[in-house]
Amino acid sequence: MSDKSSRLPENARGAWYVDSNCIGCGLCSASAPDIFELSDGGQAIVRRQPASPDETDLATQALNDCPVQSIGNDGE
Ligand code: SF4
Repeated sequence: MSDKSSRLPENARGAWYVDSNCIGCGLCSASAPDIFELSDGGQAIVRRQPASPDETDLATQALNDCPVQSIGNDGE
């Protein structure tokens, strides 16, 4: 389960985030590139928050598919 207290500081402000357990596999940034990107540090971040139901569905799918459960949607 993701941990909002470990939220990476590069995430765009808002509910969705990636935490520091991300292993940089690239799955989320490949499946939802408008929402997630790999940062220079090799971990994914939320580049911008989902802005439509379709984007929320993509982010939710990425949350479910992340192999280390680093994506959360309970942040601020
Ligand atoms: S799917 Fe998970 S582990 Fe892979 S890059 Fe995205 S947040 Fe990181």
